[in-house]
Amino acid sequence: MTDKTYPELILQVIGSFPRTTGEICDLVRQKRGADFNEHSCREALSTMGKKGLLESPARGVWARATKIAPREEVENLSGFPEGAKKEITVNRYERDRRNRKAAIAFHGIACLACNVRMAERYGEIADGFIEIHHTKSLSTSDEYTPDVETDLIPLCPNCHTVVHLVNPPMRLEELKLRLAEATKRR
Ligand SMILES: [Zn+2]
Ligand SMILES: [Zn+2]
Repeated sequence: MTDKTYPELILQVIGSFPRTTGEICDLVRQKRGADFNEHSCREALSTMGKKGLLESPARGVWARATKIAPREEVENLSGFPEGAKKEITVNRYERDRRNRKAAIAFHGIACLACNVRMAERYGEIADGFIEIHHTKSLSTSDEYTPDVETDLIPLCPNCHTVVHLVNPPMRLEELKLRLAEATKRR
């Protein structure tokens, strides 16, 4: 493997989750094994930050950049021959990012069911983190434009898991009712 795979691995390990520099390096190390070079990894992180591919919402915590990478950047990044596929992934990712931003702008960062703010429970590392539940299945056509008020619901990982314990997923009202009843019984 050459060093140009670092940006690719970094995007993979970040996924949809903001991570600290240390976490990113640990995860890249797991993928590269003996081939890992911490200095190159950190350098790649800083270069990606400068190119606008990553954002640093809190000190030392990195997430994927909200803005879409220009086409050349995407191709540069891949280092694999499936450029077209990569671009689709990035576009879908960009769509998710936009939906996420819209959902948080509309509903706020707290879980809509239990009101937890992740940073209040877990500290700075979780600042800005919340999952977005899509009330309509994402497997529907690309034409579908979610209604931010009803279709994109910020939920903490616990509530999000519970919503998906049934299929189709439980509605927010039902989850809130169950939460209220369980709390009463305590
Ligand atoms: Zn919750
Ligand atoms: Zn969901």
